[in-house]
Amino acid sequence: MLLLFLVSSYWTIRCQKESGTDSTSLLLAGLVLAGPSGCPQIIGDGLTLCGDTVVSLEVSREEFDRVAPWPGIPTADARRYTKELLFSRFRDDFDYVVFLINDRNAAAGGWSRSVSQDVTGLGFSPFDNGALYGTSGNLNAVIYLTTLGAITGGPFLHEIMHTWGNYVLPSESASHWGLSSAGGQLGGWDPDTFQDLGYTNGNGKNVYQASKGESYHYFGVNANGGNCMPYSPIELYLMGLIPSSEVPDIKVAVNPEPEDFPNGIFAADSIDTVTIDDIIADHGLRTPGPSSSQKHFRVLTVILTPTALTNEDWNLVLDDIREMEAPTKAGYCENFASATGYRATIQFGDLNNSLR
Ligand SMILES: [Zn+2]
Repeated sequence: MLLLFLVSSYWTIRCQKESGTDSTSLLLAGLVLAGPSGCPQIIGDGLTLCGDTVVSLEVSREEFDRVAPWPGIPTADARRYTKELLFSRFRDDFDYVVFLINDRNAAAGGWSRSVSQDVTGLGFSPFDNGALYGTSGNLNAVIYLTTLGAITGGPFLHEIMHTWGNYVLPSESASHWGLSSAGGQLGGWDPDTFQDLGYTNGNGKNVYQASKGESYHYFGVNANGGNCMPYSPIELYLMGLIPSSEVPDIKVAVNPEPEDFPNGIFAADSIDTVTIDDIIADHGLRTPGPSSSQKHFRVLTVILTPTALTNEDWNLVLDDIREMEAPTKAGYCENFASATGYRATIQFGDLNNSLR
């Protein structure tokens, strides 16, 4: 049963993405792609800055093969890269350091490792491990993404959401929404799709059906299709972008088990209702709230690579970043601004101004 949940969530974390086909065919035709302006700009030992927006960190093939594949960069290496390499060259101006692996063939995936947090009402106490990463409290998290195209291909928006959740709602899937109507970047179903099918299974549990949206027949317990899902009301509340009054009641399956999970059918003892007032009673009000919460976030993107990047590599990532930080959504999936309902923005560039 656990495997079925995992397979389903693994599948749904992947998001369809067109991947640089035009650039590839240009190269095959014998044309040389122009490099981005101001690129490459050597800024340190193994560190190259490109287009004022993205950095590459070149390591030996042996080291790359050790740190790049899933389960990703070991903690000691992530701390060494940030403390000894990145923050010896960059000021402490960033909310996120995102490590992007120079691999186009790996399955889309990633993780977020929290570094510091001073918001309250999230279900955990404020903490600050910034000194271990060479920062003094600004850095929210270090994020690892398995493939070069993961900023728009996913799960970039999902990993950003782990800054704030889920630590407020009971879930079968730790730190995600599991089998609940919280449906957003961290899994869960769309409340409008929930049905009690009116019968019990062989274990005497009630059988229900739900999906991640009206044109789908399934949902994920960990994720809902890479970047192709906006943040849900409870996610926006935890981000500090909407007031508690805009968060609808959340249904949570009690002791669930999959029934026909690829079709969104599951069984449970019952369905609990958790209100935002219940969450506030347990964990306190999210503070600061929407009137004074942070609405703009800065990212330092670092491509980990065993070889110098090609112009095609740089252009692929720069195009992805432009799409993700644009003030309006342009691509197939959501970008950061659209996923927040245009309540917050994210910025990757202007790195020269952050150089020490
Ligand atoms: Zn996750």
